[in-house]
Amino acid sequence: MKKWRFLYLALCCFFLLPTLGMAAPVQRVVSFQSQVMEEDGQTFLRCEIGLSQAPADYSVKEGGVLRPKRLLIDFPNTDLGDFPREYPLGDTYARRAAFYEAGDHARVDVAMVAPAEEANYRVSTLPPDKQNKLPWRLVIDIYNEEEQGASAQIDGVRGHTIVIDPGHGGSDTGAVGVDGLREKDVTLLVAQRVQELLRSSGANVVMTREDDRDVYGPNATDAQELQARVDVGEAAAKAEVFLSIHCNAFAKPAANGTETFYYPKTWQDMALAQALQDGMIDHGGRRNRGIKEARFYVLHNSSLPAALVELAFITNPTEKNLLANESFQQEMALGICEGLANYFAALR
Ligand SMILES: [Zn+2]
Repeated sequence: MKKWRFLYLALCCFFLLPTLGMAAPVQRVVSFQSQVMEEDGQTFLRCEIGLSQAPADYSVKEGGVLRPKRLLIDFPNTDLGDFPREYPLGDTYARRAAFYEAGDHARVDVAMVAPAEEANYRVSTLPPDKQNKLPWRLVIDIYNEEEQGASAQIDGVRGHTIVIDPGHGGSDTGAVGVDGLREKDVTLLVAQRVQELLRSSGANVVMTREDDRDVYGPNATDAQELQARVDVGEAAAKAEVFLSIHCNAFAKPAANGTETFYYPKTWQDMALAQALQDGMIDHGGRRNRGIKEARFYVLHNSSLPAALVELAFITNPTEKNLLANESFQQEMALGICEGLANYFAALR
């Protein structure tokens, strides 16, 4: 064997390393590429960071309170090869990725569109792909639920007109959850997602309120306030459905699940409630409490087929967290829209 070469290398290391004051990089970042992909109906941006060897240890840091949309990945004992240091990423899922070296590690700094938190990205590794001449890669998949919502299409609601009533608002907070989550805020957020989904699918939507307010005015009686909401539906041209969105509440925190109320003043009311309930259970996955008859003001006084959905219990710790979670809000909105589509299909 070539002992001399080995000795030469050993000497080099012996003399060079102490002068550099650090270990020589053992790994190199060699490339970067990104593309939008789709899996199971969900689209996302896949970023692949090419590496000279199997990624040994890397650390993922979220930007936290100060930089909520930044994702930082550090590679220890790594330097950067000859490739561009900055990449624009199209602004749908992420804005840009930037590479730099700091001491003995390399870092990639990704500016995401959604907050850099667990639900919005996934890090994994891919082995070399000889056929396509790809090296070892660290993969960052970046999601943006807002975008999913905006692009989702619901078949079967086009041309229909739906009145959406986000429960409570303004001076009336509705029920308040364990750590202060307010029903009126959740109902508006979910209603806005339903509105967006329906409008982007070609339906007409009339909202009883679009922001945090009383519909009649502050200090109204319950009947005045609720009648004001019914009136929005009665005045809306060609409206077919009145849908009121609420969160449930109960003294015992264990109470949980999804339910829908209706008042059988027309033959469609019960069918509407059942379709909405089925859609919410399919998408939200909470316990099915079924549909129930109730003489609630808006259900009884609206001339339109009407239903009042109780998404989940704001007084239950698990469901309170879900109600505050954007993915769950979106799933419930999708479930409601699918329920509406199924209801319209059944009427044909
Ligand atoms: Zn309520």
